[in-house]
Amino acid sequence: MIDLHMHTVLSDGKDNHESHIKMALQKGIEIMGFTDHICLKPVNWAIRQEDLAVMAEKIQDLKDQNWGPLEIRFGVEMDYFPHKEKEIAQIISQLPLDYVIGSIHFIDDWNYDTDKSLYGKWTNDELYEMYFDIVQQAAKSGLFDIIGHMDLIKKFRIWPEHSVDHLYERTVKTIAENNLVVELNTSGVDRPCGEFFPNEQIIGLLRKYEVPMTLGSDAHNQNQVGRHFHEAIELLKSYGYNELYAFKKRKKERYRI
Ligand SMILES: [Zn+2]
Ligand SMILES: [Zn+2]
Repeated sequence: MIDLHMHTVLSDGKDNHESHIKMALQKGIEIMGFTDHICLKPVNWAIRQEDLAVMAEKIQDLKDQNWGPLEIRFGVEMDYFPHKEKEIAQIISQLPLDYVIGSIHFIDDWNYDTDKSLYGKWTNDELYEMYFDIVQQAAKSGLFDIIGHMDLIKKFRIWPEHSVDHLYERTVKTIAENNLVVELNTSGVDRPCGEFFPNEQIIGLLRKYEVPMTLGSDAHNQNQVGRHFHEAIELLKSYGYNELYAFKKRKKERYRI
């Protein structure tokens, strides 16, 4: 079992690295990756610039210890902003990362997954168009290894008004062409939308375009490590997935499930 997405006290998580490790060992996870938030905008949920070195040192220290059946990876969840590729690349290059999750928490200056104030300004279909356009740009940027919570725009039960099949298909195709991995992010079940990120329609398309997948709990406290994983793995298998991917020094590793 692999859990490549979690947050500690260094960004907006409630628990420290060791608590997450303890829980991962209990849950039989074999590869875990820490992915605190990095965001170019000053937000209270991302790691502070001055803590980047602390994070790198902490994770190296943890990797140097023997955790038995558990291996530790160093990742980050990096916010993608169109036209900020150089700034993002600059930060990534400073850190000895195993992988980078690219996530879209902003539409322009709007942090749509924490700030509900602008819902209603656009139709849901327009939001989907804007959001998935940014996902496609993120995929083409070459900055990332994994696309995070691919349809996060639905978080507050923002469902499309009409078919968005074309949008999903174009986005999945772009992800496939750029050799990215997509995570099945299990946190969605505990959000208002009540389902995994991405939805089953998208998982079907990912399979069709042979996009490799990984698994992330997006844990913000120790109890969320590995959440809903049995259900997630059964779902992936039902779509024909029999392997999950992890990363070491930004190279793909493949594991059977
Ligand atoms: Zn996120
Ligand atoms: Zn996250």
